[in-house]
Formats: sequence, structure tokens, C-alpha cells
Amino acid sequence: MQPALRIGVLALQGATAAHTEALSRLGADAVTVKLPSDLEGIDGLVLPGGESTTISFLLDSSGLREPLATRLAAGMPAFGTCAGMILLATDVLDGRPDQQSFGVIDLAVRRNAFGRQLDSFEADLAVRGLEAPFHAVFIRAPGVESAGPGVEVLAEVDGRPVLCRQGAIMVSAFHPELTDDLRLHEMFLDSFDRREVST
Ligand code: GLN
Repeated sequence: MQPALRIGVLALQGATAAHTEALSRLGADAVTVKLPSDLEGIDGLVLPGGESTTISFLLDSSGLREPLATRLAAGMPAFGTCAGMILLATDVLDGRPDQQSFGVIDLAVRRNAFGRQLDSFEADLAVRGLEAPFHAVFIRAPGVESAGPGVEVLAEVDGRPVLCRQGAIMVSAFHPELTDDLRLHEMFLDSFDRREVST
């Protein structure tokens, strides 16, 4: 039997516990990442929802930004949800001037794109590769304004991409960890198998 995948959950701020639980339920060895040394030995990383401005600030103060950027540039798989999507995108609109992203998925993302008065909403998404719809919870969600040619759009709301993948990087504008449905975490973990087969 193959050893379990060791997946870090970036735990500087935001919705981390439900991700850890979902990954553990799928048989992964889920560990929280707060310090550079926590990156050692992880196979992939989940960047959770929260406030991208705060997480960006804490990436600097924790010393995580540089080693994490190096791992991502080397091809480490990552799944960014909501604020995590913002942190992985190449371009951020309506961001704070001092917030920075890793730029590993070719997306222009607008913060709080679905309107302030509509802070949260839910939608049943048709997701490419899944048979039944996925019930998605959006909370002050970012919106994709444009996606580069290398980006696969896996689900949309009103014609706007909300679940995307480019190589080893997967992002959702919503919070897949807030329902009992493990299929998107499973899709993320399955991408590791694909990678191993292709190498
Ligand atoms: N609006 C938040 C941000 O810009 C994201 C919200 C979320 O992660 N639920 O970072």
C-alpha cells in the first residue's frame, strides 16, 4: 500500500479545521502549516478561505512566503478556496495595495465580486467530472474576471468561472469544506495519482 499523502493546510487565519477533517476522512495525513518548518515533507497544500489581506500579511510575518513560493514554483500541488484562490492567482483586482499573491494560476480575480449586499449565497453547481451537482457555499466570494488559455474551467455561476484548474493548481471561489461533500477534496487528491502516472 502506498503511504498516505501528507497534505498541509495553511493555518495562519481562516477556515482550516473543516479542511483538515475532510482530508483526513479521505485518508490523507493532514497537517497544519504555520511555520516554514511545517512545509517539510508535505506533498501538497490547501490554502483556505478567510481574508486574503490578513493571510498575505501573515505569510510575511511567519516567514512562510518565500519557502512556499519556492515549493509552488517547483510544482507542488495546491488547492485554494475563496481567499486561497486570491492568494494563488496571477492578478488581484480590488486588493489592498500591499497584498501579494503567488501567481501560480493564470486568473484575474476580483475580491468580493458578487456584491457587498449579497455577502453569501449558495448554488448547486454542475462540475465537470462529477455526476451529481455540488452544493457550493459562497461567502464574500472572489470572482474570476478573466482566465488564461491554460486554465480549465470546471464550474461556473452565471457564466463566471468558480472552479478552475491549471496543472497542479486547483481553485474554488466557494467553500467546499462547509458541506459534507468530499468530492472536490477527493478530486484534488486524485490529481496526485495522475501526476505520478504521467512521470
Ligand atoms: N473576501 C475575502 C478576501 O478578499 C475572501 C472571503 C472568503 O475567503 N470567504 O480575502
